[in-house]
Amino acid sequence: MSIQGISCPRCGSRRIAIVVSETLTFKCLDCGYTWSPNLPAQGLVHTKAGDVHWTEIKKIMEDAINYVIGLLNEGVVNCDDVIGRVQEKYGNYLSSREILRTIINGVKRYLEEIRYKDVNKYSALSTELAKCRELMNKGG
Ligand SMILES: [Zn+2]
Repeated sequence: MSIQGISCPRCGSRRIAIVVSETLTFKCLDCGYTWSPNLPAQGLVHTKAGDVHWTEIKKIMEDAINYVIGLLNEGVVNCDDVIGRVQEKYGNYLSSREILRTIINGVKRYLEEIRYKDVNKYSALSTELAKCRELMNKGG
């Protein structure tokens, strides 16, 4: 049996059965995996490190933003360098697009902090921020 538009989240098989139970539950006829489209399990995000719930991803992104601010504090200001460092640390959990978004948010927060304190760094960083944005618009 095949149900339109449904495939197994574990093995990708389209041979899916509906299990009779209180909530709508699907069962994969190939690997035996069962799941319900209405449960929080649906909120799992596929990452290189495995399936992670989206709330975890949000926490990781917040953590990554703080990491970016830390790097900027240390004096790493080049957009490519920051991307490389964040990629290295969070690449297993975040897509390249999420990494870029995280960096842009981190740089923006940092810029707010230094706006009136360090004019030279502010203008240098603004230029780098524009580069990061450009990468993001390219679909990075
Ligand atoms: Zn399966």
